[in-house]
Amino acid sequence: MTASPAPQAGSPAAPSAVPLLQGQGLPPFEAISAEQVDQGIPLLLAELHAELDQLEADLSARATTAEPLSWPAVMEPLHHLGERLRWSWGVVSHLNGVCNSPELRDAHQRQQAAVVSFGNRAGQSRPIYGALRQLWQQHQASAEGQPGHLDPTQQRIVQAELRDMEFRGVGLAGAEQQAFNATSQQLAELATTYSNHVLDATNGWTLRLSDPAELAGLPASLRELLGQAAGDGASAEHGPWLMGLDMPRVVPFLKYSARRDLRETVYRAQVARAASGELDNSPLIEQILALKLQQARRLGYANWAEVSLASKMAGSVAEVEQLLEELRAAAYPVAQQELEALRACAARHGAPEAADLKPWDVSFWAEKLRQQSFDLDSEALRPWFPLEQVLQGLFALCQRLFDIRIVASEPGEAPSWHPDVRYFKVLDGASGAPLAAFYLDPFSRPGSKHGGAWMDECLGRSVSRAGEPVLPVAYLICNQSPPVGDTPSLMTFDEVETLFHEFGHGLQHMLTTVERPQAAGINNVEWDAVELPSQFMENWCYDRATLMGMARHWQSGEPLPEAEYQKLLAARTFMGGSATLRQVHFALTDLRLHSVWTPDGGQSPEQLRREIARTTTVLEPIPEDAFLCAFSHIFAGGYSAGYYSYKWAEVLSADAFSAFEEVGLDVEDAVVATGRRFRDTVLALGGSRSPAEIFEAFRGRPPSTEALIRHSGLALAG
Ligand SMILES: [Zn+2]
Repeated sequence: MTASPAPQAGSPAAPSAVPLLQGQGLPPFEAISAEQVDQGIPLLLAELHAELDQLEADLSARATTAEPLSWPAVMEPLHHLGERLRWSWGVVSHLNGVCNSPELRDAHQRQQAAVVSFGNRAGQSRPIYGALRQLWQQHQASAEGQPGHLDPTQQRIVQAELRDMEFRGVGLAGAEQQAFNATSQQLAELATTYSNHVLDATNGWTLRLSDPAELAGLPASLRELLGQAAGDGASAEHGPWLMGLDMPRVVPFLKYSARRDLRETVYRAQVARAASGELDNSPLIEQILALKLQQARRLGYANWAEVSLASKMAGSVAEVEQLLEELRAAAYPVAQQELEALRACAARHGAPEAADLKPWDVSFWAEKLRQQSFDLDSEALRPWFPLEQVLQGLFALCQRLFDIRIVASEPGEAPSWHPDVRYFKVLDGASGAPLAAFYLDPFSRPGSKHGGAWMDECLGRSVSRAGEPVLPVAYLICNQSPPVGDTPSLMTFDEVETLFHEFGHGLQHMLTTVERPQAAGINNVEWDAVELPSQFMENWCYDRATLMGMARHWQSGEPLPEAEYQKLLAARTFMGGSATLRQVHFALTDLRLHSVWTPDGGQSPEQLRREIARTTTVLEPIPEDAFLCAFSHIFAGGYSAGYYSYKWAEVLSADAFSAFEEVGLDVEDAVVATGRRFRDTVLALGGSRSPAEIFEAFRGRPPSTEALIRHSGLALAG
């Protein structure tokens, strides 16, 4: 048995004259300027390169002796190197996201390449790779309890490090490694070209509208957008208007345009992007797939899907296929019924397309049907969701489920980057002991804060070099409307869900009990399992007691009307069959292109996709539909053979929530006990065990698709 990480001797670092070199504790945000970035990061990298030189020299020298290697000799300096970089560059990236300025953005950009290149150097270091292999071999050669044997957490950490390094080609030699590196380079270039083609094809198509009749059905916001796009001299009112293929214009246009002919024109152009002429992505797709297959074989795998799955929770291609098939089988008949309902709706309106609904009619009639069935106006619900009340509801839920208490800090207790930012402490409910803390930066600040919402690590649970325990601290960033005058920040239901979602990530980061930082919190959690706690928390927004407990009108104190609650429930499953089927179509196409497709198999990627479409679409793709030519997620993003992860994680989170449904959401003792178990497994164990093992420890059995099928409204009676 190896001891837990031995704290290094020495005193805590004195406050540094260069704040970015502080390397521990809460960052002094206000002291970090663009000049500091330009000064501090090169200094830091110089130190880290020197430390890495030293570590490589030590490890190479040891490799020539027969001495066994110890965990602290390898993993501690390695963690220390990574943590110093993460701390410093993490603050810079964080400020770049929440306090952006042209100066800071430039400084970030100036330093980024050097930071990435340090990461590449460490990630491809042969002496480190050799040392990790030796740790692993010593482990394999020793029985439990003997020197050299690793505990399960250590095993997972070493295996993940080895795998990441191997996927960078470090385990290859000579010509094979050269070919691997050349192909990696080529793949990066192809991805860039692919994504440029999509961008150019999207921007290269426009449709000028000058007759107000061509705008029939469009909401004011879209008219305004089209007027702006037409440039100088155009007005939202009098035109001209310019239609384009970007999402902010296409999505509402297909949803609202009453002009079927124009919907068709826009739809046909949209699905044929980057599929012809100079911007044709089809040859690139074949090249990318063929090269990824070669890379996989060089790494010792049968295909790229196996490479992707090697670092995920899903055990095999067959396992993913089975999950997708269960969802497909449930969604298909429901999607057919949904299509019938759209036809019936079109018929009620006397629309000629009722008899022959086309893909460009689907969004339009779905919107009409939605308005008729339940007209949920998300803006109108804001007064029921003032931020303070939502936070109280969220914190009360966490107290109830996980036995933690969340208290606001005194002003000035923690360094901050903006007056709107708040700092909260998380205490253990039973003992009152401090467990963690988090920053909440809730409001949008156009111009200086990136859009969207995210959770990030400020500090991870660990032990300082001086032997002091370090408690985790999270950043929770949202972008909701700020208070105006006497009106508090009033949230949409979507924003409430987003806050719960990010808080779920935060809980996994903060409630970890793992002592080894490499596997604490969200570290070392497989990609397809990392959304489990976040989506799990979203489910509570639909729980009557939780929702009704916090949704009260900020002025009158009235609870949310029952009819509005019912609309929220209805909106959750509206067109659920079609939505699920669409994701299954994408996921299955991605998976099979990276597992069964080969360049000499006699079938083009597009033919393979159309074969899959036979059972995963209820309206056949039209002949010019070249979806693969704009599937940037998998050909230019990081999702190749990983698109299924969206559904995989949803299955886990729905199934986890259903553990509470099973015991009865109103049976307090049982809910509390189940909540504690969730804290002690999913939230506490993080990346220290396989996610399958952790899930089973919580649920008592492997995951099932039943709950997601039911929550998505796909469980047919009978
Ligand atoms: Zn998330």
